[in-house]
Amino acid sequence: MPEEGTVINLVDEKNRFIVKGYHGIQNKGYGWVLTQHKNDSIDIDFFVKKIKAAVAYREEFYKNESTTAFRVLNGEGDGLGGLTIDYFDGFYMLTWYSLGIYALKDIILEALKQSVEYKGIYQKKRFDGKGKYLDDDNDFLFGKEADAPIIVKENGVNFAIYLDDGAMVGVFLDQRDVRAAIRDKYAKGKTVLNTFSYTGAFSVFAAVGGAKKTTSVDLAKRSLVKTQEQFNVNAIDVQKQDIIVEDVFNYFKYAVRKKLLFDMVVVDPPSFARSKKHTFSASKDYVNLLKEVIQITNTNGIIVASTNSANFSMMTFRDFISKAFRELKGKFKVEESFTLPKDFKVLEKFKEGDYLKVVFIRKIR
Ligand code: SAH
Repeated sequence: MPEEGTVINLVDEKNRFIVKGYHGIQNKGYGWVLTQHKNDSIDIDFFVKKIKAAVAYREEFYKNESTTAFRVLNGEGDGLGGLTIDYFDGFYMLTWYSLGIYALKDIILEALKQSVEYKGIYQKKRFDGKGKYLDDDNDFLFGKEADAPIIVKENGVNFAIYLDDGAMVGVFLDQRDVRAAIRDKYAKGKTVLNTFSYTGAFSVFAAVGGAKKTTSVDLAKRSLVKTQEQFNVNAIDVQKQDIIVEDVFNYFKYAVRKKLLFDMVVVDPPSFARSKKHTFSASKDYVNLLKEVIQITNTNGIIVASTNSANFSMMTFRDFISKAFRELKGKFKVEESFTLPKDFKVLEKFKEGDYLKVVFIRKIR
C-alpha cells in the first residue's frame, strides 16, 4: 500500500487511465476519486476550483441573513471525499476524516484562503476510521480566534457555538430543516419530549414554536449547562423547561410508571452508544427504542424518529417503524420525511452519503 495522501492513477487491466484519486483509509474505503481527467495536477489551483464551485453552490446560504451556519463543502458530494468544511458566521471549520486527506492539508488550506474571505479558520481531526476526534493540539489555525461561544443564527434562532472545545461545536447542522418543521408546523401548544437531546437544539425550536413545555433528556452531564445556554441565548425562560441528565432507557421506565404522555417525542440516538447498562445500535435496536417511545406518546401525537446511521436505507427505517407499531398493535400515519438538506450535497452515485433519515409519524392508536 502506498503512503496515505499519495495521489494515484487508477488504471484498468490494459493500463488505460480510469480516474485519479488519493489514498486515505476511512470507514468508507481506501481513498477517494479526485478527478476523471488524467492531466489535472493535484495542486492549489485544483483545490481552489473545487472550493469555489462548492461556495457557488451555497450562494443562497451566504446571502441569507437569518441562517449564518451551514456546510460549505460536503466531502465526496463536492468532489473532495474525506473533508468537510462548515461555515459559522465568517469562521470556517475543516474536518479531516483520514490521514490521507490531511497529508494534503497545506495546499488545501492555501486554496481555502485564496477562495473565501474569513474571520478565522479551525480544524477537527477524525482519523481513526470510526470518525473519533483526535484532541492532540489546538483546533485554531489562522486569522482571528473566535469568541467562546460565538452566536450563529439558524432561521432566526440563535445557537451558541464553541469552535475549540472538543469534538462537537454545539449543533448538528444537518437537522436544520427538521428543526424548522418542528417550530413552524408541529410545536404550538404541545408538550415535547426530546430524547438524546445533546444541547437541546430540537427543544429550543419547539419552544420558539410555542410548545407548552419541553423536556430534554441526555446522559451527558455537560448537556445540562449546554442546553440551559441554548435556551438563554434565545431569551427563553429555562425555569419553565425540564432538562434531565439521565439514561433515556431509564427515563422511559420512569415515564411509563408515572403514566407520562407527550404530544410530541423526538428521538435522535447516535448510531452506536454504550452506557453503563445499555448498548444501543441503531440497526439492531431501533424497533425496541420506538416501542418505548410509542407508549409515552399521546394518541394523535407526533413522533419525530431520526437516525444518522449509514448502515441502512430509508426503506429499512420505514420497516422498523411499521414493525414497532405492528408489535404493539398500534396504527400510525407518516406525515413527512427528511433526508440531508441542500448544503449537505450528496452524489447521485453514492447514495450511502445521504445518511440522514427523519420521519414525522402521527400515532393513530
Ligand atoms: N439530537 C441531538 C443530537 C444527539 S447526539 C441534536 O439534534 O442536537 C447523541 C446524544 O445522545 C449525545 O449527546 C449523547 O450524550 C446522547 N446519548 C447517548 N446514549 C444515551 C443514553 N443511553 N441516554 C441518553 N442519552 C444518550
